[in-house]
Amino acid sequence: MKAAVIHEFGPPEVLRIEDAATPQPAAGEVLVRVRAVRVGGLLDIGTRAGRNPFARLTFPHILGADFAGEVVEGGEGFSPGERIAGVPFIPCGHCQACSMGRDDACPNAQLVGVHRQGSYAEYVSVPAKIVRRIPPSIGYEQAAALALSGPVAVTQFGVAGLRKGDWVVVTAAASGLGLVTSLVAQALGARVIACSRKEWKREILRGHGFEAVLNTDDDGFVDQVKELTTGRGVAIAIDNTASTSMFAKLCAVLDRLGVIVCSGALAAETVPLDMRSLYLKSQSVIGIRTHTQASLDGFWRMVQDGIETRIDRSFPLDDVAEAHRYVEAEKNFGRVLLTID
Ligand SMILES: [Zn+2]
Repeated sequence: MKAAVIHEFGPPEVLRIEDAATPQPAAGEVLVRVRAVRVGGLLDIGTRAGRNPFARLTFPHILGADFAGEVVEGGEGFSPGERIAGVPFIPCGHCQACSMGRDDACPNAQLVGVHRQGSYAEYVSVPAKIVRRIPPSIGYEQAAALALSGPVAVTQFGVAGLRKGDWVVVTAAASGLGLVTSLVAQALGARVIACSRKEWKREILRGHGFEAVLNTDDDGFVDQVKELTTGRGVAIAIDNTASTSMFAKLCAVLDRLGVIVCSGALAAETVPLDMRSLYLKSQSVIGIRTHTQASLDGFWRMVQDGIETRIDRSFPLDDVAEAHRYVEAEKNFGRVLLTID
């Protein structure tokens, strides 16, 4: 089969289109003909560059995490020809976190494209538990764009206890994850304040029907949120940046019983937390590594009611190095995908 293979860590040029052995599905796995794969930051580019702390891989290696395609060899309830989407996170299924239904915290989880061969290829074999059927209304590219971010957002709002009508602020709402998070919150009945620090991105966000689009760098940000929420603040703040200045502002706009949810640490700064304010207002700060298995089902049910995210650009698999350069240059608004005919 055709695949994008790396034989060493390095710049985008280490990605080579080669002929690789078609994987043989093991027990409990499905063999999938891949049609679209998301090009991601940490799992794809970080792993390729040798920056991924989870990566313990053997070369030659095939990258590729969340994907969509059709089942070729079924089993485990899937039949050949069914259209599916898959996620990279494979929880062990028997640890304490897994038995509690909080498999997002599984310490034994493996990642497709990091710990095992990925989906930058015509075929990938993965455990059936990480794939789900996709609605007929959406194409493979849209499915691959939503496959991971959507369930992560559903998990975030489930754990944070979102209720209809709640105010939610999403930072970096113009990122691939942030936009899906904002759309999921909206679909769950939240009143969404989508934030971006770039005006051209805010302009695009304004077209998505959110309650407000704000700039967290604006001196008046805290007052603007207070005004929108009639002085109360937001029930949930989603922040995957871990930026000192941003975190202080989120604390300032958090309502009583409010929850700050973190599923990433792009800036990776150590943020200040006023414990006195936290306990006096019965607030919490929670980390959620990724989605739960249960949220995969919940999310794909929601998609049937019409969630669609923005696809910035699709590259054919042959242009994988160019796709990596494009994502590394942060030129995209929305998902960047590889397509495999
Ligand atoms: Zn586990």
